[in-house]
Amino acid sequence: MNLYPKLILDALQNVRYPGTGKNMVEMGMIEDDMRIERNKVSFSVVFEKPNDPFIKSVVKAAETAILTYVSPDIEIKGNITAKAKQAPRPEPEKLLPQVKNIIAIASGKGGVGKSTVSANLAVALAQLGYKVGLLDADIYGPSMPKMFGEEEAHPQMEAVNGRELIVPVEKYGVKLLSIGFFVNKEDALVWRGTMAGNALKQLIADAHWGELDYFLLDLPPGTSDIHLTLVQTLAVTGVIVVTTPQEVALADARKGINMFTGEKVNVPVLGLVENMAWFTPAELPENKYYLFGKDGGKKLAEELKVPLLGEIPIVQSICEGGDAGKPVALNESNASGLAFQQLARKVVAQVDYRNKNREASRRVVVK
Ligand code: ADP
Repeated sequence: MNLYPKLILDALQNVRYPGTGKNMVEMGMIEDDMRIERNKVSFSVVFEKPNDPFIKSVVKAAETAILTYVSPDIEIKGNITAKAKQAPRPEPEKLLPQVKNIIAIASGKGGVGKSTVSANLAVALAQLGYKVGLLDADIYGPSMPKMFGEEEAHPQMEAVNGRELIVPVEKYGVKLLSIGFFVNKEDALVWRGTMAGNALKQLIADAHWGELDYFLLDLPPGTSDIHLTLVQTLAVTGVIVVTTPQEVALADARKGINMFTGEKVNVPVLGLVENMAWFTPAELPENKYYLFGKDGGKKLAEELKVPLLGEIPIVQSICEGGDAGKPVALNESNASGLAFQQLARKVVAQVDYRNKNREASRRVVVK
């Protein structure tokens, strides 16, 4: 018999994707790579996710449909390839065109000091003379208003080129927005993923961030849809993962890093920050007590081949600074302030290195 693609596609219209009421042709699941050689037919089927639960049953149903509606003599078994849709990376120029580098700050679990590191890194970068923005995307526990002493702030709206935009609060040289400025904690807690994601998109796209050298995103702890939405809608330069040296925190940090570097998300990890690396009493500044174990972050960084960007000790002033709305990074003269200054310098160096490498690989492609 004379086989041609339309015959096969017509047969495939009898295969519905479960739960949608639509057939696989309508859904655009059939790739444009169909090959027909005598009675042998092969092509690919695209699924949204690599772990789609219906891959096997849909492929089987497609084979049966072809054998039933076209001919039982067609060689089709084993010739259908299941593929996962690649998430398209947006062009960096699309959103936030005046922002040079977007850095997401993540942690595997809560309470490891991710927000403390974000606030102090933002302040330290501003102290170095960079233009810095900070978005508190920790929608379930926004802590930036408190850490910046701006709990009573109510950001205003401003007309920019005919659009009404939210004006970030400016403090310590950092432009700051947090969901905490707009809703109280209890309301944010019950938000579903999509609502939270949309609110954050608004704080990114409908705010007057202007020109920035570094735009920091303090992500919620763990890994969720919000992480995926954010890193996929924004062209994130890289992610910084914060951990403590405790085994449980390290295990979760490892999971987080693997998610970011995995095929589906695929954003570079700039490095790891080991927070609460040791305890130093104010009266004995030379002494170090390793309460949560020694070098846990360093070993994890070596294992996963990511840079260790900083080791921040447990110091009372770091905690007090957070509570009082005055991040310690404002004060370079003490050891903890200095630790954040050093972290900021390492982050700058790491970002520069990444950008240079990207430029170099672009030039190679152009040749
Ligand atoms: P996360 O954002 O990971 O949930 P936070 O930044 O809110 O964690 O920190 C949790 C608590 O630990 C806060 O009270 C904070 O002040 C304190 N903290 C964080 N890092 C340090 C540190 N290096 N030294 C002392 N206290 C710290």
